[in-house]
Amino acid sequence: MAQEDVFKKLVSHCKEYGFVFPSSDIYDGLGAVYDYGQMGVELKNNIKRYWWDSMVMLHENIVGLDSAIFMHPTIWKASGHVDAFNDPLIDNKDSKKRYRADVLIEEQLAKYDDKINKEVGKAAKRFGDTFDEAQYRATSPRVLEHQAKRDALHDRFVKALNETNLEELRQIIVDEEIVCPISGTKNWTEVRQFNLMFSTEMGSTADGAMKIYLRPETAQGIFVNYLNVQKTGRMKIPFGIAQIGKAFRNEIVARQFIFRMREFEQMEMQFFVRPGTELEWFAKWKALRLKWHQALGFGADHYRYHDHDKLAHYANAATDIEFLMPFGFKEVEGIHSRTDFDLSQHEKFSGKSIKYFDPELNESYTPYVIETSIGVDRMFLSVMSASYKEETLEGGETRVVLRLPAPLAPVKLAVMPLVKKDGLPEKAREIVDDLKFHFYCQYDEKDSIGKRYRRQDAIGTPYCVTVDHQSTEDNTVTLRDRDTMRQERVPIGELNAIIGHRVNITSLLKTL
Ligand code: ATP
Repeated sequence: MAQEDVFKKLVSHCKEYGFVFPSSDIYDGLGAVYDYGQMGVELKNNIKRYWWDSMVMLHENIVGLDSAIFMHPTIWKASGHVDAFNDPLIDNKDSKKRYRADVLIEEQLAKYDDKINKEVGKAAKRFGDTFDEAQYRATSPRVLEHQAKRDALHDRFVKALNETNLEELRQIIVDEEIVCPISGTKNWTEVRQFNLMFSTEMGSTADGAMKIYLRPETAQGIFVNYLNVQKTGRMKIPFGIAQIGKAFRNEIVARQFIFRMREFEQMEMQFFVRPGTELEWFAKWKALRLKWHQALGFGADHYRYHDHDKLAHYANAATDIEFLMPFGFKEVEGIHSRTDFDLSQHEKFSGKSIKYFDPELNESYTPYVIETSIGVDRMFLSVMSASYKEETLEGGETRVVLRLPAPLAPVKLAVMPLVKKDGLPEKAREIVDDLKFHFYCQYDEKDSIGKRYRRQDAIGTPYCVTVDHQSTEDNTVTLRDRDTMRQERVPIGELNAIIGHRVNITSLLKTL
């Protein structure tokens, strides 16, 4: 099945099974805003717990914070967001559709990569086992031709971005003959800057009302609190502060479901270090964060690093962890070495000293910061897209199954009486009443057992228990595994011991 079709199916599956609904659905939705349903909220909470515990519980030098969404407006002046949190936008005059100029060019770069990979793929088939990919890439005239075009475009693009040269960005789009996917024409407007922050007013609107912003990232709440936390928590450098919370960006092009939203959630951790040690810490966090992703078991081939071409002026290293979504490799997490930029800016704009006194060095300095920043919603999408499978079973029957890592699954165990009589429902309820204190269980008695299994497969429930007549005699049940569909007979009293450790977040944390 084409990846686009898989993506469409995933989106409708999310709605049908209560994972994600368009916001304000009965009013036909609101652009790039989504609500999480009864299943979605469980999965989302499990992702957040996995992240939070891996940061705060597993590191004695990382603590949490929950700062407010509204902050003093000068914070966004100091951070550079008021002046520079812009995207370059361009409109197609025929379709009236708006695009990010940088994204159009990035997609063009990806097209060159596709062409090169196709050539390599064809040659690999032709030459079979004797194929030497590195040599082919270095010598094939076709590959070299595409590569040269790609490199030239790339250099030009990076230069234009670094110089914020909007005319040049437009010229690149024209020279590369990039067309609007809707109208198919090259009838483009100028490129303009567009600030992504939402604003509102605080206080009476008559006079004295203050323009404030909805935060576009959670990080600034950490920066302006770092000394409060350091002092009250008696933290010593190096130490980190972790936060999970909503962020808002007025994205120009909001497509691809929950990949790019206007209201979303971030999990950010700022790690404060001694100046001069930041690149070492950057390398450590880069490796640690990839390990956290890979522990979910989707396979190493689903991830790659993308080191930044364009470093923000305050950063001295930056990389993204990209995940293979149905629409290609896309950023899920950013890891940035932000130097002392943010803290120094806040010191300057607030007029207050926020230096750290290092008792070991007996001196004060502004710490450097490594940040790890991941979107909960993008993580959710990556988990869903890697887990969604349509399988053909023996006998030709098909099933849709979410092969979610068990610790992230919304429901851990479904308990089903075989029939709605003979004391079986009561027995099943007893099991739920006992196990519900350990993990999320669902009682399900409606429809045939086969249908009930399919329903649980579709929401990713790793285990189902069926209570039958034998259960009332010997206190055993059949335990079904979602992935293998194998069933085994087990004593009711052992269910927690068998399932508990497999479905709890602890099992994931122990692999880190
Ligand atoms: P992009 O280049 O895709 O716009 P970004 O580089 O601006 O992302 P960051 O500012 O580094 O993103 O934000 C950190 C993380 O927050 C991203 O890796 C992503 O997971 C998440 N994120 C950013 N913008 C959005 C959005 N509009 N919707 C959902 N998640 C987002």
